[in-house]
Amino acid sequence: MIDRLLSPDSPFQKRFFFLAKRFVAGETIEAALDAVRELNAAGMTATLDFLGEDVLERGAAIKTRDAYLDMLAKIRASGLRTNVSVKLTAMGLLVDEDFALDNLEQILERAQANEDPFVRIDMEGSPVTQVTLDIFERAFAKHRNVGPVLQAYLKRTPADVERCIELGARVRLCKGAYNETPEIAIKEMADIRQTYLQSAKLLLSEGIYPGIATHDRRIIAAVKAFAKEHGIGADRFEFQMLYGCRPDVQRQLVAEGYRLRVYVPFGTHWAGYFYRRVLERRENLFFAVSSIFWR
Ligand SMILES: Cc1cc2nc3c(=O)[nH]c(=O)nc-3n(C[C@H](O)[C@H](O)[C@H](O)COP(=O)(O)OP(=O)(O)OC[C@H]3O[C@@H](n4cnc5c(N)ncnc54)[C@H](O)[C@@H]3O)c2cc1C
Repeated sequence: MIDRLLSPDSPFQKRFFFLAKRFVAGETIEAALDAVRELNAAGMTATLDFLGEDVLERGAAIKTRDAYLDMLAKIRASGLRTNVSVKLTAMGLLVDEDFALDNLEQILERAQANEDPFVRIDMEGSPVTQVTLDIFERAFAKHRNVGPVLQAYLKRTPADVERCIELGARVRLCKGAYNETPEIAIKEMADIRQTYLQSAKLLLSEGIYPGIATHDRRIIAAVKAFAKEHGIGADRFEFQMLYGCRPDVQRQLVAEGYRLRVYVPFGTHWAGYFYRRVLERRENLFFAVSSIFWR
């Protein structure tokens, strides 16, 4: 029943898109490109995510891959400053690893023609952490325009940070958005913040152009201070934030001369993404409900 309720064609989904619209740029690529145009005009870059995950059929994965190929062509034609983010479970990872790698590689090849050819592999829940990093490394051996996301709440992450530095890979560092067990994940926010900062500092001083993905003002302040103290220029890293989250801080960072990339999700499969945003912050539920009045 839940599946039916959350399917993109269900009346529930169609009726309730207005709730998600603060965090999701729209249901079509055109709507997403309009959002990117506004971000670019405000001095920000973007990464576009065609929503969808946990695909269990080859046909659905191929459709998503083709949507990415089409998206890359449209980005190129538009001249907008954005790259793309993909989820490997949407590329068919749960069907077959080689199949997902092949889909990813087609995207990496097509992206080479774009002004910003970079493709970010989002990180999903812990059942696919290792395989996601394995596929990333296999792709990276042939294509340099790809990089992973590492989640600071995972106890394994410091070792993954070292590995990415050794490889010379561009990392996006985030706290992590899935509900993981205490065996593999740090649960206390103060501890997550501390390990986030340790990894961020290492990536800033020894890594390649890290993406500091957070809305946490304490981390942002600490990263700025560390970069200044160590003579790390604002062109050697970028802050990253989610579409619709803390637009005031986004604007402020740009005004201060920092690079800011906004993660812009779009598409009809918005439910899973939207619920993760609502579960992680009560403010996000407030924003969603208050959007009823902005409609
Ligand atoms: C660009 C980007 C890409 C991401 N990609 C992934 C991914 O691939 N895989 C993954 O697991 N997770 C991903 N995430 C999500 C991430 O892991 C966190 O779940 C999410 O960013 C929340 O953590 P936070 O550090 O931003 O802030 P939080 O821990 O939610 O909040 C920390 C503090 O920030 C402030 N704050 C945060 N949000 C708001 C708000 N809306 N309004 C007002 N104050 C606020 C508050 O002061 C709060 O105390 C991504 C996040 C970003 C920004």
